[in-house]
Amino acid sequence: MARYKDEQCRICRREGQKLFLKGSRCYSEKCSISRRNYAPGQHGQKRAKLSEYGTQLREKQKTKSYYGVGEKQFRKYFEMASNKKGITGENLLQILESRLDNVVYRLGFGTSRAQARQFVNHGQFEVNGKKVNIPSYLVKAGDVITIKENKKDNATIKINVEETANRPVPAWLERDNKNVSGKVVRLASREDIDLPIEEHLIVELYSK
Ligand code: SF4
Repeated sequence: MARYKDEQCRICRREGQKLFLKGSRCYSEKCSISRRNYAPGQHGQKRAKLSEYGTQLREKQKTKSYYGVGEKQFRKYFEMASNKKGITGENLLQILESRLDNVVYRLGFGTSRAQARQFVNHGQFEVNGKKVNIPSYLVKAGDVITIKENKKDNATIKINVEETANRPVPAWLERDNKNVSGKVVRLASREDIDLPIEEHLIVELYSK
């Protein structure tokens, strides 16, 4: 059976927000949220009022969708965030931002996190000169991410670099378009993360 092409757009429509899951289409007029900003399905145009639990659950689901993380891994990140000093919700977002697939996306080498994950899975990038093909690898301050020498001619990555050349890179990263590389200047702080996430709702959900 053919895969439903707008599957990712349905996730955005369910959340009522752009989650930027499809690369350049998300920045175009073709974005489904711009055209049909209501939940998919027969009763999608009647948004039901959510309970407190429902609101917390949706916030968690939305955050998982943003970063393309499954429940088990997300829960693991939450435990890590709780065990770190500081505010748990902010720690959680910092951990999610530190994933290598997210960093490759934030640097503009992938047009979506899903595409960036595929590049990492295929061993296209190195961290500090060593091949890392684990999308969930957590970068540290000072890490340098580079495209592998023999992948420098990858046409898709070249196009991505050109298309995102004017897109600002978050302050915690530095990008070198010429060499398709980037540096983690420091870990992301809450102010650096431009996603409309209310992380306290996730903390409340998991603290029940
Ligand atoms: Fe689809 Fe991207 Fe728009 Fe979401 S933001 S609805 S994934 S085109």
